[in-house]
Order: sequence, then C-alpha cells, then structure tokens
Amino acid sequence: MRITKITHSEAPIASRISNAVIDFSRMTVSVVAVHTDAVVDGEPVVGYGFHSNGRYAQTGILATRVLPRVEEAPAEAITDPATGIIDPVAVHRVAMANEKPGGHGDRAVAVGTLDMAVWDAAAKAAGLPLFRLLHRRFGTTPEPETAVWVYAAGGYYHPDKPLDGLRAEIGGYLETGYRDVKIKIGGAPLAEDMRRIETVLELLPEGSRLAVDANGRFDLATALEYARALSDYDLMWYEEPVDPLDYRAHAVLAEEYAGPLATGENLFSAADVRNLRRYGGLRPHRDVLQMDPSLSYGVAEYDAMLRDLALGGWSPRNCCPHGGNQINLALAAAYGFGGCESYPQVFEPFGGFAENTPITDGRVALPEAPGIGIELKPALHSMLRERL
Ligand SMILES: [Mg+2]
Repeated sequence: MRITKITHSEAPIASRISNAVIDFSRMTVSVVAVHTDAVVDGEPVVGYGFHSNGRYAQTGILATRVLPRVEEAPAEAITDPATGIIDPVAVHRVAMANEKPGGHGDRAVAVGTLDMAVWDAAAKAAGLPLFRLLHRRFGTTPEPETAVWVYAAGGYYHPDKPLDGLRAEIGGYLETGYRDVKIKIGGAPLAEDMRRIETVLELLPEGSRLAVDANGRFDLATALEYARALSDYDLMWYEEPVDPLDYRAHAVLAEEYAGPLATGENLFSAADVRNLRRYGGLRPHRDVLQMDPSLSYGVAEYDAMLRDLALGGWSPRNCCPHGGNQINLALAAAYGFGGCESYPQVFEPFGGFAENTPITDGRVALPEAPGIGIELKPALHSMLRERL
C-alpha cells in the first residue's frame, strides 16, 4: 500500500456563537485526504482528516513542512512490513522530522489533522472500524467498548439567545437522548452566569448533570470567586477555569474547590501533560482530562500522554476528549475513556457522530464500518470529497 498523493484544503466552520474568550465568526478548519493505491471492494482507499473546532486551519504548515516530508518518504519508511498497510505511527515520526522539541501549537494541529486521515486510510485498508484497529494496537482491556458516554456541549453565548433560547437548546439535547450537558460561563458577569446555571438546572431531570466551561478566561482570584459560587451546586465539573498552562493556579484551585475540575483541551503535547501531572495539583480520583488528539499531534502523542499520566495514578477513565468528533469517539472506545464530548447542532458538518448511531440514554454506539466512519455522515463525506 502506497500513498499516491495527499490533498488539503481549508473549510469554513464559522458561526455566530462565542465563548468567554473567542467568537467563531471567522473560524476555519483544515481538511486532508490521503489517497492510496490500495483498493477495497473496487474502490481506492482514501483517508480523511480534519481537526476539532477552535483552532484555525493550518494551511501553511501542512503545505510547506508536514505533507512534503510524508510524500517524499520512501514507502518502506511508512509501511508496516507485517501487513503491507501504512503505519500511522511511522507517518507521524516522518512528519515530525526536523522539528525541534517544545513550542507545541499550530504545528500540533497540522500533524493531528494528517494523523486522522492516515488512521482512517489504515483502518479502511485493514477492513476494520478504527476503534477496533486502535484497540488491537494500544488497548489494555480485553475488548474495546462498543458504546461511549457522551454529553452535549453547548450553552454558548449567542446574541439572539437569552435565557429562553438556552432553555430551548438544553431541552432539545435532552429530547435527542443526552443525559448530561455543559454550558459556557465567564462571558457574562457572575450573577448572570448563575442565572444561566440555575435556568439549566431547573430543566434537568433526576440523574442528569451540568458542567460549566470558562475556556481559560479567569485569573486566579476570579476563578476562586466563581469556585465559591459554584460550590452551591453539585456540578459535573468546572472546566478550564484559568489559563491552561498556569499549572500552579490549577493546584491552588484544586485545594479550594471540592468538586471535579476539568482541563487539557489546550495542552498539545505529552510534555505539557507531564507538567500538568507534576505541577497542576489535580486529583486522579476526581478530575477530568480533555486533551484532544486532532489538536495534539494525533494518536501516537495521545498514547504517550496516557503512559505518562499512568505514572501519576491516572487511568484512561479520567479522559474525556474535547472535540466532539468521530476519531475521539474511536479513541474513547479503544482505550476505555470515561467519555467523549459532543456538539449537537454546532460545528456542522464536522461535529457529531455517524447518522446510524443515535444518542441513547447519554451513550452513542460505535459503527462497525471500516475507518473512522466519515462515510456515515453523508454531509461531511460529500463536503470532504468536493474539497479534496
Ligand atoms: Mg472546553
């Protein structure tokens, strides 16, 4: 199996929503297709990749550094000799040649986007759904999970959505089959955020939980002020209260706030995660880690993160990746993560899971089609085909 060409493009993912830090009016996303000479059922194998929302398209880094290295690599350097199928871990290594350590940022997003496409192609060539291929290679449990807990991440600030709109949005998630939800905080004064929280809590049935997400907006004093106010509620978690790289601030908060804290979606490397483990003071029996493979160099780097976290007593159950897309769902099933984020109705067509796997009692099943399952989201598949 050889890579014949790699195509990439930039797609808009703009919307009128905003969180405490950014609006999404000019948001873009990189999309990549890995074309191969492998043929399955008469069709050439093509792997597709994109990255999660919230980071902009990485056109320059893909075009000038990451993709040429892979296209110029000899086939033997990126093929598994046992199966003859492309080895995504080897591709990752080649893509990172001549890159210095540290400075993980947009580069991690570019490599993560390619990584998704390569895993999709490898799984299709192997005739396996990605979660089963990942479990064979990295799994530590006898079997992968076949369904994963997901929660509806929404409750963005929206110019046309005061409390009535928030009520309608959350009610819609519950009707769709979600049990647990998350809303944004930190984009309005504390009193207004508390009204938003109480509005949602009034709607949630027994057994459903609410998480809140400040997107790293607060300084430590404000984060502590919110923590005191949030302590009145039994929240699922308090997410990204402070800057994601301010480990000491996390440690102080973890001493003060008894409920679960969540962070990690803006840590893009195993080195950053190691620092969080060492200096962030977070509690493996309680807190939640949200690193997102498509933003952080992909699956091989995620595996390195998990191996490091194990040294501090963290288990895959503590992980619940940001991003709400199919590769994160596949990873969650393969490793037995606690769950996976989901963005119903926003960031379409990228967000969400296969159309034949509805949310049932807060869980979503993994499709058994080969690859990531992008073909099971027809709007996404045709958009990627058109652009790539
Ligand atoms: Mg978040």
